[in-house]
Amino acid sequence: MPDIATIAAALNSLKTATDIAKFLRESDLSLERAELKLKLADLIGALADAKLELIELQEALSEKDKKIAELEEAFQCKDALVRRYDAYYQIDEGGNPIGSAYCLRCWENDHKRRQLVHDAKDHFARVCTVCGHRYGSRLASDIQPPKEEESDQG
Ligand SMILES: [Zn+2]
Repeated sequence: MPDIATIAAALNSLKTATDIAKFLRESDLSLERAELKLKLADLIGALADAKLELIELQEALSEKDKKIAELEEAFQCKDALVRRYDAYYQIDEGGNPIGSAYCLRCWENDHKRRQLVHDAKDHFARVCTVCGHRYGSRLASDIQPPKEEESDQG
């Protein structure tokens, strides 16, 4: 975990800066001017290190936030898709697959919903526009909602 190491480095830099500041406070006016300047340069260096390490940490944290948001989104729709043959579908109230076919590969690998499109040159294939995976159109077709034409019956 690089960010744990970065926290340790930042704390270390701050400790160095604090030590130098304490040393300066306790030494009063007895320090030579040149020595004082040297100590101040060390202090500024330690603070600059701490700043850089914190920036690195900030970037690592925002990456993590992004990843968490992606995972939360994937988690929320995890139950919303169901597999049929070679594709994934949303489910209707009765728990049956319905609507557009989603790429099986993208869903299972990345938890991303990607609609399959028809291959313009091959009517027996459907393609994922993101990963390029091809599916047999009969095994990954869209599912139309059942028609509700009961009025003429009986
Ligand atoms: Zn895909």
